[in-house]
Amino acid sequence: MTAATTTPFAVRTKETLDMLASTGQMKVLQTLDSPMDALVTMIDDDGSKHDRICMCSNNYLGLANHPDVVNAGIEALKQYGAGTASVRFICGTFTPHHTLEQTIAQYMGTEASYTFVSCWNATEALFPTCCEAGDIIISDELNHACIIDSMRLTPVIKKGVKKAVYKHSNMDSCREVLERAKNDPDITGQIWLITDGVFSMEGDIANLPELRKLCDEYGAYLCVDDSHGHGVMGKTGRGTHEHYNMINENGKSQIDVFTGTLGKALGGGAGGFIAGSKDLIDLIIQRGRPTLFSNALPVTVAASANTAIRTLMNEPQRVEHLRKVTQYCREQIKAKTKFEVLESPTAICPIIVGETATAIAMSKKLLDHGIFVIGFGYPVVPEGEARLRIQMSAAHTKEHVDQLVEALRQL
Ligand SMILES: *Cc1c(COP(=O)(O)O)cnc(C)c1O
Repeated sequence: MTAATTTPFAVRTKETLDMLASTGQMKVLQTLDSPMDALVTMIDDDGSKHDRICMCSNNYLGLANHPDVVNAGIEALKQYGAGTASVRFICGTFTPHHTLEQTIAQYMGTEASYTFVSCWNATEALFPTCCEAGDIIISDELNHACIIDSMRLTPVIKKGVKKAVYKHSNMDSCREVLERAKNDPDITGQIWLITDGVFSMEGDIANLPELRKLCDEYGAYLCVDDSHGHGVMGKTGRGTHEHYNMINENGKSQIDVFTGTLGKALGGGAGGFIAGSKDLIDLIIQRGRPTLFSNALPVTVAASANTAIRTLMNEPQRVEHLRKVTQYCREQIKAKTKFEVLESPTAICPIIVGETATAIAMSKKLLDHGIFVIGFGYPVVPEGEARLRIQMSAAHTKEHVDQLVEALRQL
């Protein structure tokens, strides 16, 4: 074999890594030595330990280290062991998976749901399984990477599936794309429209009522990936559809299909789901490649996630506190610092700083002031729009916000 340092892969990889290092764009993976909570213990490069306020987690409800959530996982591990060492259609499903999937369906307002090891996996199951030749998938241009990749994958698995993109949250552009689809002789099947509920880089939300109307007009299914909306949006944290009052009196959602993660507000461990009609879920079970050829969500995580959602349902005051502390954070940043924070009804408070290197340097400085916030740059966001993304949690208090504001003032 060629010497490892002269293979095409080795040469180009070294070039990429050198470029990232020399331009200050290299991401550092921080080391945590405590559970995720308002305060985390971090171990720095020099081995020193620091307690810092964590404001970059999606732990929106502060449930990642909730004693009930932790205990549910421990009990499930004791009762069921690590797993079935198999996929579900061969060795079956543990009771906690059934329980969790019923809880998710009830919480989302759908007939059924099915869980996966991640939302990424769930999204990769959705379109390649449900679409057939003659279908089209229509996407907001700023949708999450897992949606983009699932759309790329679908025509590879199912020839004859088309895809199209509309301008971000632009309903005129969306209508144009739907109109084109309607007049396309190749599109003889189902139109699928997919949007993030909450767009995580800006913290803006999809116009679900208008999208619902458009989908009804064109006979399209409306799919929403509400990974950043579940637990956050709406009075009781059911998501962006609740924010818009799109849950009927009988508890049924006006959204046709949801994808979502259990790795953010809803427990924070890992896991994802598809929620929708019973037939759609049955098709996923029968035909979905990530369900047929890949293991289930670990049972410990299933039990923890179920307890997290139940805790949210029983304690809507967590959502209320999250909303209040987020509002306080925005007000204080605007009133007391020179930074501009993007407006949003979500718990995401991005501060745009420009260059990727600036964002990374600022987040490094904030660490010295006891604040853990990450700078996002290219390619996660467009060039020149790098940002610090502050994310609030129900675990935060006003005092935590005050410390953030003081640190921002000292930058
Ligand atoms: C975080 C996120 C995902 C990925 O979730 P995982 O469960 O970690 O795979 C998918 N979609 C959106 C919109 C997200 O924000």
